[in-house]
Amino acid sequence: MAKKKTKSLRCPSCKTIVLAKDPEFPFCSERCRTIDLGKWASGAYKVSTAISDPEVLESLIDENGEARNKPS
Ligand SMILES: [Zn+2]
Repeated sequence: MAKKKTKSLRCPSCKTIVLAKDPEFPFCSERCRTIDLGKWASGAYKVSTAISDPEVLESLIDENGEARNKPS
């Protein structure tokens, strides 16, 4: 007995049921695929900014120290 199974998932962007045979699977449309990729890109950007923050702070402290050493 062969079971006929239709694979389907919910679109990550709009939660619409999408069948595995859909060309944009697991997204319901190209538009939702672009929206989801944009979310990931902005999330990754935030993370990398947080990681590089200490370096930025260090250079700011350097500049402040130099200014403080100036005789007034
Ligand atoms: Zn969608």
